[in-house]
Amino acid sequence: MQRQIFRPAKVDEQQAPLVIAVFGPPGGGKGTQSSMLAKFLRVPHISIGSLLRSYAQDKSEVRLRLRGMMALGNLVPDTLVLDVLATRVSEPDCARGLILDGFPRTLRQADLLERGLLQFPFYSTNLREKLVAIHLRVQGSTIAGRLSGRRICSRCSATYHLETQPPRVHGECDFDGSALTIREDNRKAAVLKRLRLYEQQTAPILSHYAEKASLLEVDGEQPRENIAQEIVTAIQGMLRISVAGPKNAQSMVENHP
Ligand code: ADP
Repeated sequence: MQRQIFRPAKVDEQQAPLVIAVFGPPGGGKGTQSSMLAKFLRVPHISIGSLLRSYAQDKSEVRLRLRGMMALGNLVPDTLVLDVLATRVSEPDCARGLILDGFPRTLRQADLLERGLLQFPFYSTNLREKLVAIHLRVQGSTIAGRLSGRRICSRCSATYHLETQPPRVHGECDFDGSALTIREDNRKAAVLKRLRLYEQQTAPILSHYAEKASLLEVDGEQPRENIAQEIVTAIQGMLRISVAGPKNAQSMVENHP
């Protein structure tokens, strides 16, 4: 089932950069769908969680503290998130638009985004009219199954699932053979904390976008190809964009690593 609340953009849509923000609980499939959509639309997939994990990869005291916060499932301070995000978004590949995965996560961040925090001319004007929010709706029982089976490569961060997306060789990454591990924040206590924070801090943004921007509600329980197909069809209809490259979500999925 899909529900769309859409206010048509007033700008020339062929020229308008796309800003798509993907929402859903931890384990809701944001990363998978963002990455497929980014390939299809040929704009970068900006995962704030991944940016922060890379940023935290050294032994300075600040970064160790940051790793600790993330391992416990807490949100990290806005100043740091904004800094990391603004640096990434100022790169030239974001000029045509981007897919935001993990931002905004609070109403305050949504407000900062709308007020032009990204320091890029097109983001600071009429962002609301250009922003499309996608909400992947997933039940708690599905999330528990997805997160408990999730494994990540200790070197390249490729993700796997023991049942639905196992590696070719048990316990080893398909790309570089490194050991697969459990992400610290996928342990039970951290998952519960992340879910609680999602309900308290992130879910209210959806009502905000339902009123003030374009919100696409998608059933995130379906197979990932169907979800992708549904999103692409809706986005093409919403923005009337013409994209070069794969013509449907099936080929987009086939091209996905
Ligand atoms: P998920 O969305 O499944 O919880 P992510 O990989 O997106 O996982 O994020 C991992 C962690 O990174 C979060 O639990 C939080 O600590 C931090 N993080 C990500 N995005 C934000 C944000 N916008 N604001 C604050 N912290 C964030």
